[in-house]
This record gives sequence, C-alpha cells and structure tokens, in this order.
Amino acid sequence: MAYKRVIPLFFCLNSSNFVKIKIIMDFNKRNKYNLRCSFCGRDKTEALILVAGIDAHICESCVDQASEIVQEELGKKAIEGGHFDSLPESVKPIDIKKHLDQYVIGQDEAKKYLSVAVHNHYKRLAQTNSNEDEVEIEKSNVLLVGRTGTGKTLLAKTIAKYLKVPFAIVDATVFTEAGYVGEDVESILSRLLQVCDYNVEMAERGIVYVDEIDKIARKQDNPSITRDVSGEGVQQALLKMLEGTEVNVPPQGGRKHPEQKLIKIDTSNILFICGGAFDGVEKLIAQRVNTQVIGFKGKDSEQLDRENLLQYITQKDIRSFGLIPELIGRLPVLTYLEPLDFKALRRILSEPKNALIKQYQKLFQFEGIKLDFTEDAIDYISEKAIEFNLGARGLRSICEAVMTDAMFELPGRKDIKKFTVDKKYAEQKLSKSKLAQLKAA
Ligand code: ADP
Repeated sequence: MAYKRVIPLFFCLNSSNFVKIKIIMDFNKRNKYNLRCSFCGRDKTEALILVAGIDAHICESCVDQASEIVQEELGKKAIEGGHFDSLPESVKPIDIKKHLDQYVIGQDEAKKYLSVAVHNHYKRLAQTNSNEDEVEIEKSNVLLVGRTGTGKTLLAKTIAKYLKVPFAIVDATVFTEAGYVGEDVESILSRLLQVCDYNVEMAERGIVYVDEIDKIARKQDNPSITRDVSGEGVQQALLKMLEGTEVNVPPQGGRKHPEQKLIKIDTSNILFICGGAFDGVEKLIAQRVNTQVIGFKGKDSEQLDRENLLQYITQKDIRSFGLIPELIGRLPVLTYLEPLDFKALRRILSEPKNALIKQYQKLFQFEGIKLDFTEDAIDYISEKAIEFNLGARGLRSICEAVMTDAMFELPGRKDIKKFTVDKKYAEQKLSKSKLAQLKAA
C-alpha cells in the first residue's frame, strides 16, 4: 500500500517572513502525483527529498546549490562594501600606529614596522586588483621576536580588528610534516576559513598569526638518520603557503584524508605574521656582535645595550637559531618587542582602551559600584608581575587573585556603592592566593 508522509517545516525566506511549506516524502517512490523539481526537472522518484512551495517544488541538491550561490553572493557584497579588502587611501602607516597605541603600550619599533608592512600589503592588493604589472610588489610577511607576554599576539589581533579582516591565531607547535602524527600545515587555513564562515574570498584576504614559530626551528642535536618532522619538515611545508600559492584545505582542519572534500584557497593575499620568543637567541646575537665589534668597530662596543640585545637581531641570528634561509626569505619584515619593565606594566594596567583596571571597573559598574585602585595598589601589582616574571600575562593572574573575593561578595550588596583597592587590600588577598604559594615554592 502506498503511503505518504507529510512533514510541516518552517523555512525562513527572509528575516521577517516565515512561510510554511511541506516536505513530501513518498517512501515507496511511486510516481503517483508526477511531481518534479521546478529547478532541475528531476522527477520525485529520482530526488531524495522534494520540498513544496506555493506552486513549485525544489529537490535537495538544488537547495544545496542555491545555498552555495547565496553564500557566495553575500560574501561578494561584503567585499564590494569595502569592509574587507580595501584600506582607505587616507589610512597611512601613522594612522595604523596611532590605533595600535590605544591598545598596546610601548613596542614602538614593532608597531612602526607592522604598520608599514600592513600598509604596503594593502597597496599590493590594490595593485593586484588593478592588474598593473610593471613592478610587482612582493608580500611583506612579518616576523615578530620578543619574550612571551610582551604583546606579539595583541599587536596582530589589534591590527586585524582595525582592518576588519578575518584573523586566525595558530600555534606552530601542533604541526608536523605530512604523513606523521600531528596536524598538516594546511589546517592553518582551516582556522581562517572557520573564522569567516567558510567564505573563501574573505579568507583569501585575511591575516594569520602563527605563534611559536621558533618551536619549529631545526633541531640542532637531531641525528641525521631520523627526519626532523616537526622542525625542518614543517618549515619546508610552510614555504609555499607563506609565499602565495593555491592550497587544498581540509575544511575541519587536522589531517587530510582521501575521501574528504577539500577547499582551494589562494594564499597570495593572506598576510602572515609570525611570532616567537626565540629563547636563547640573545646568546647568538651576543656572539655575532662581539665578533663584529672586534673586527670592525671597536669603539661602538660601549654603546651596545647589553640588557636588551634583541634590538640588534638580524636574519642571520634567526638562521643560526634554526630557521631555514628559504623561510626567513619569506618573512622579510623582522622586528622585535622589548621586555616589559615596571613602568610599562604599570601603564598596561590602566592606560590601554581595554586595560585590566578599566575592565574590572566596568564589571563593578554593572552592579552599581564605583571601583577605584589607589596608586600604591597599582605599583604593588606591577612590582609583583615583575617578580613572577610572567610578562603582562602575570598582571591578569595577580589581579584575579586580588579581585576574586570582592567579585564574589559584592554583587547584590545594595549598601555598597564604592569600593577601593589599596595596597594593603591587594597584599592581603595576594598573600592568601595560590600565586603566592607558587612563588614561595
Ligand atoms: P605574546 O603573544 O607576546 O606572548 P600577548 O600578546 O598574548 O603576548 O600578551 C598577553 C596579554 O598581555 C595580552 O592579552 C595583553 O592583555 C597583555 N599585554 C602584553 N603586552 C602588552 C602591551 N605591550 N600593551 C598592552 N597589553 C599588553
């Protein structure tokens, strides 16, 4: 006996109109009603699902195709709207740096280099669009060197937000050469695709921050009989992607496998910013500058700032550290971040647009409480951050230790309208916290 199941469904055709339509599934596939897809003409016996409209039908594969077209068009519109690929003519490197100044304290050198690199990158995009081919501007991928917690990721993130381009952060330590346990480097682009909802055109103009690039340095003590699959192997795999090529990307990331549908992405217009602490590179810099000093400019040796050797870093030091020359060549902009001293940490606490103190004040404001930090409390927290040697990341942990009790007890207290954190309070809360025990141990 023939039977038919009718499933009512609500489809959202536009944001305000809901049109009720029915899915008719004829399970024993008899051609009783002779229905066809009004788009491709497939008979309902050939289609898995036929969705009925007011006086038309659509099969499941046409729904798929229509959805792809809609996505594509929406993406195009976004790009045409100038939100994603064009940096307005008026935005000069100085403007980019000014914007960075609002969020990142210090690091003037890195900000300057990054602003110029990004500006040139967008000029290059404009040139690609206009198909002028006399002088080809090369990609200006950036390498940031600086201790952990000095603002490398923050710089990259802030710039991406300013430019309104998709931005993905990936960690180089998870990658291994194809065929070994770990992730393929192509999954860098999967993250970017995920960020912009699989809109390929948007992803192709995004910015990727590759963190811990120093961890894929060639292993110096690696005996030549074993392959260096997480070091040099990954560097080799990264080369083409950084330079600009078409890459087949597994949409969900991880490892590629034969049955998986891959998405093709052209990386020519993706800006790669790589960052790493390069622990121990100072020694290599010292060795180099010492030999230079002896060889050429004896007098300059006194002017060297030995406390902050990172400022003298060159591509040569990165090469001695273990990055292969081909990869270094694809990261032409090299700059450094300074270690954060007491003054910088103090400013980080209160000055940036989303400074930690401002964040806590906002949280308390929701409860109708005015929160203040005394100057000596700010000094105390900054001193402790230096002591714990965690860079600016330490500030957050210390503030959490100081503020947790207040954040637990004060919400809902109608009698408290003002709360002040002074040095004594901060000391008392921090001494009871796990952080203090950590230090003691
Ligand atoms: P890195 O990538 O260098 O290890 P991050 O950029 O992730 O460090 O910094 C960690 C956090 O520390 C940031 O989210 C930010 O709150 C703070 N921070 C670090 N450096 C700075 C800085 N120069 N200015 C303002 N905040 C900073």
